[in-house]
This record gives sequence, structure tokens and C-alpha cells, in this order.
Amino acid sequence: MLPITLPINICCDTCQNYISKGTDVNFRKEEVIGETYMGAQIFRFHFKCTRCSAAIAIKPHPKKSDYVVESGATRDPEFEPSDDDEEQEQEQDTESDHEFMLDLIDIQEEQDLLQFALMTYNKWNNLVRDDQENP
Ligand SMILES: [Zn+2]
Repeated sequence: MLPITLPINICCDTCQNYISKGTDVNFRKEEVIGETYMGAQIFRFHFKCTRCSAAIAIKPHPKKSDYVVESGATRDPEFEPSDDDEEQEQEQDTESDHEFMLDLIDIQEEQDLLQFALMTYNKWNNLVRDDQENP
């Protein structure tokens, strides 16, 4: 058993105990048979509820750069205390989590477009300047 800092907020299915992100738990690592990402083996993490010792298992979701609860508990992204404004932000965060990689791709494309637009603008600007200098 090794210590791990819990990366997500979860709620124990057995005793409804909230175990918040950052809680230290002792875990046991297990290969997820047949599941790899970019050639790397994915491991399932087994640990026990801090209150009732029920078995809980989570595993990483590398495509989303996130973790999923496999058994024994329920993911609770809204556990973090917040006022109304922050709740709205959290909803947006959840949506963006799902499209984490898509967003990265979009950002890359946006930067390319920006670069292209800048080049075009500079070219156009130079042309205008040339016209003014040589009427
Ligand atoms: Zn429990």
C-alpha cells in the first residue's frame, strides 16, 4: 500500500462520506488489462473509504487528463463549497473537461489563424506603404 493524494472529489456509495480532493489515502495499484494510452499501461487505484473502509476504485482517463470512479463511490465535482457565481463557472469547467483535447486543438488552430492573419496584415500594410511611397 502506498500513499496517494486523491485527485478528485468523491462520495462513498456505502456511507455517503465525502472524500475531498487532496485527501491522503493508501492505495493499491492494479493493471487495467487491455487498456493503454499512447503505449503506456493504465493502472487502476484501489483504496478504502476514510470512514467506512468500503473498497473504492478509480482510474485515470488520460484522454481527458482526468480520473474516473470505477466502483464504490460517485464522482462529485460540485462538492467544493461555492456561491452561485462559482457554480456557474464549475458547470463551464465540467463542459470544458469533456473537450479538453479538442480545446487544445482549437487553441492551436486559433494561433495558426492568428499567425496567418498577422502575416497577411503585414503584407497588406507593406503594399499600402509602397503605394503611398511611390504614387
Ligand atoms: Zn464509506
